[in-house]
Amino acid sequence: MTASHTSTAAVVVAGGAGTRFGGEPKQFRRLAGKPLLVWSLETLASHPEIDRVQLVLPSENLGPWPAAPSVKARSPVAGGATRQASVRQGLEALAGDPPARVLIHDAARPLVSRALIGRVLAALDRAPAVIPALPVRDTLKRAEGARVAGTLDRHGLFGAQTPQGFAFDAILDAHRRFAGEEMTDDAALAEAAGLPVHLVEGEMRNIKITTPGDLEIAEALVTRAAGPEISVSGQGFDVHRLVPGDGVWLCGIKIPAPFALLGHSDADCALHALTDAVLGAIGAGDIGMHFPPSDERWRGASSDQFLSRALALAGAAGARLVHADITIICERPKIAPHREAMRARVAEITRLPVARVSIKATTTEGLGFAGRGEGIAAQAVATVRISASGA
Ligand code: MG
Repeated sequence: MTASHTSTAAVVVAGGAGTRFGGEPKQFRRLAGKPLLVWSLETLASHPEIDRVQLVLPSENLGPWPAAPSVKARSPVAGGATRQASVRQGLEALAGDPPARVLIHDAARPLVSRALIGRVLAALDRAPAVIPALPVRDTLKRAEGARVAGTLDRHGLFGAQTPQGFAFDAILDAHRRFAGEEMTDDAALAEAAGLPVHLVEGEMRNIKITTPGDLEIAEALVTRAAGPEISVSGQGFDVHRLVPGDGVWLCGIKIPAPFALLGHSDADCALHALTDAVLGAIGAGDIGMHFPPSDERWRGASSDQFLSRALALAGAAGARLVHADITIICERPKIAPHREAMRARVAEITRLPVARVSIKATTTEGLGFAGRGEGIAAQAVATVRISASGA
């Protein structure tokens, strides 16, 4: 197949409150260390035919998206009261600059494969609506209470999965038209609007996580598919000069002080060192290569963006950060009073548990540039888990 020049967006719906996981919305539960919703988001965003990904989150979880998994990921929008209303919000968010095609995917299906995405997109060349589905294998019983009342003919019955693909205008129109009628998937809206809906083959492993048991199955599938992993570490080092000012940025927080760090960005040398460490772990060059100071885009930039982008590169390379250890070298400011806030902020940016973020500080006993208060240095070690095969 030749590369398509048709614009394609993906809407990932993670709007549900999910009550079966002890209060925590299931889309934020971790699967192999990564929040459930990030799995499909990354797979969709890394697909070459998809140009942007629109995430829909419950409004109470909206906040700033600390680490966009890809430059293709747009800021999340708030969902509605139902799945259908949430999809509608995602579609409306894209409507200002409408794509030709859209894939609508449930974040509760983290293991969607690139091959499946490719099948849905390929079939969209021939039909305005496409769903992946698998034939029903189990014999279907209708029951009244615990007593079987009959056996259904499963011939011709399929279980629908996501991502479901549509011509964008047609599905947006259907969502607007049938906004008051609750339907269980987007294809049902397409059917109601009279669009022909085509089937492509789904995948067994594209399971929907509904219960904690499903999460265990997904965990087993991921671990088996990934094969043995090894830990790899990268290190980073950075220095910025101190000048008079109103505070320094370190580890993503601003510490008020009568001085500031000088730099093209916010000059957060701790996050710069960690960014370099992440890049080092995957052999992807250094921060200056990815974010050159000559680029006006990074003037005054908040350095969490650099770290987030380095983490997205790591994700694309199959590596996931499991530990970050930062040492800040300075006489002032005192780091100890800010250490926990720094850990929390780095954990937020990296999506690591706080226990996997270490912030240390040392002086140089008055020696050298740091000792004279001319600048602040930071070093970092980032440890990632990556496939032992090097693939
Ligand atoms: Mg720097």
